[in-house]
Amino acid sequence: MSTRSIEKVTKPGTPHFVGDGFRVHNFIPGTSTMKRMDPFIMLDYNSKYNFPPTNIPKGVGVHPHRGFETVTIAYKGRVEHGDSSGGGGIIGEGDVQWMTAASGILHKEFHETEWSKKGGEFQMVQLWVNLPAKYKMSPPKYQAISNAQMNKVALPDNAGEVEIIAGSYDDHKGPASTFSPIHMYNVRLKKGAKTQVSFPKNYTTALLMVEGDAKVNGNTEVPQDHFVMFSNDGDSFTIEALNNTVILVLSGEPINEPIAAHGPFVMNTQEEIMEAFQDFNTGKFGYLED
Ligand code: MN
Repeated sequence: MSTRSIEKVTKPGTPHFVGDGFRVHNFIPGTSTMKRMDPFIMLDYNSKYNFPPTNIPKGVGVHPHRGFETVTIAYKGRVEHGDSSGGGGIIGEGDVQWMTAASGILHKEFHETEWSKKGGEFQMVQLWVNLPAKYKMSPPKYQAISNAQMNKVALPDNAGEVEIIAGSYDDHKGPASTFSPIHMYNVRLKKGAKTQVSFPKNYTTALLMVEGDAKVNGNTEVPQDHFVMFSNDGDSFTIEALNNTVILVLSGEPINEPIAAHGPFVMNTQEEIMEAFQDFNTGKFGYLED
C-alpha cells in the first residue's frame, strides 16, 4: 500500500443561505472544480447552526433538478422532503436521503414542522453526485436510508466504527444503490484512535471533519468543519483522532465525461442544458404543490 497525499485542506469559507433554511459553506466546486472532484459535483455543508423556534418551517421551496443525484446527510435536526415523482419523507439525525433526479424532478426541502417549532442545532451535508450520460435521462428514484439500515463495522482495539452509507468497507456493504462506484462512510473515531482507509488510486477522494479534529497522514492537523481533498498518488491515508470525531469520507470513480452545468441542471452538453430549461418551462418535470 502506498500513501495517498493531501492535495488541499480547505477551511469553511463565508457561509451563504440556500432558501432560508440551510446556512452552508460550499466545498465543491468551491475548493476545486466539478471536473476535478468528479463524480462529486457539489458539496454544501451546513456546519452547526442554531435555528430559533418558528411555526413557519424554513427551507427551500419547489425547484427542479436534472442529470444527477442529491444526497442529504443529517447530523443534527430534521429535514422533510417531497418530490414530483411521489418520493418524500423525513430524515433525522444519522439518516440519509438519496434522491435520483435523473430525467427531471421538482422537489422542496424544509426543516420538519415539529422540529421547527422547537428549533435548535442544525447540521447537514448536501452532496450532488453526477450520473453517467447513459443514466441522466432514466426515471427519478428516491431512497430513504435510515441510520438503522447502515452497516456499522467496529474497528479493532475499540477505536470506533465505520458506518457505511454507500459502497463497501472490508467485506461489508452500505444500503445505498449507486450508478457508478462510490464509497461513502461516516468514520467515528475515539480520541487517540487511529485508522487507515484505502481506495483505488484513481478514485476522487475527500473527507469532511464533521465533529472533532484529527491528524491526517501523521502530520497534517485538520480542525472541525475543514475539508480535505486527496491526491491520486497512492491508495491509503491515515486518520488519528485528536478528540472524539465524526468524519465523512467520500471516494468515487471519476465518470470522465464532459460536464455542462447550469444552476439545478447538470448534463453533458450545452444543448442538453437548453433542453432541460425548455422541458422545465413546459411542465415536463411534473407538478408539485408549494
Ligand atoms: Mn434541491
